[in-house]
Amino acid sequence: MAKLEILKYPDQRLKLEAKQVTEFDADLEKTANDMLKTMYFRSGCGLAAIQVNIQKQIFTMDISVDGNEPYVIINPKIINQEGEQTCKEGCLSFPNLVIEVTRPKKLTIEYNNTKGELLTLKAEDFMAQCIHHEMEHLAGHVFIENLSNLRLQLALRKYNKVKDKKEA
Ligand code: ZN
Repeated sequence: MAKLEILKYPDQRLKLEAKQVTEFDADLEKTANDMLKTMYFRSGCGLAAIQVNIQKQIFTMDISVDGNEPYVIINPKIINQEGEQTCKEGCLSFPNLVIEVTRPKKLTIEYNNTKGELLTLKAEDFMAQCIHHEMEHLAGHVFIENLSNLRLQLALRKYNKVKDKKEA
């Protein structure tokens, strides 16, 4: 397994859109394992393939306290969403920046696992927030785009101050 380099905002490659995965082979398994390793190494709870310069519909996630409940989510599709929640969140592509974002409180997605099987996942609270954040990356968007213009300016000003500090 190899650690991958994470693209940092404002890298324009974060705006690329991920393509559907159609081959469920050993390469896909390797990509998923490399992404998990990279995510755990950076203490993130989610990582989208777009963030490591791979334009495929893949993200990894682990929201457990002990970091032992890995998910590899491929070709995710939201089939139901309910409610709203506003929470603080960070992003591995925005070192040291924390902002408040409003997202669905509950989400149900359909996705493929690395074998290509179709599965359903019902998520709420932090897991729903994390899935929504990662799916945004796969569509070529980043979390600060959820902010109003004024808040966006403030967040960018703060990001420019904190981004080069040593990562925790
Ligand atoms: Zn992110």
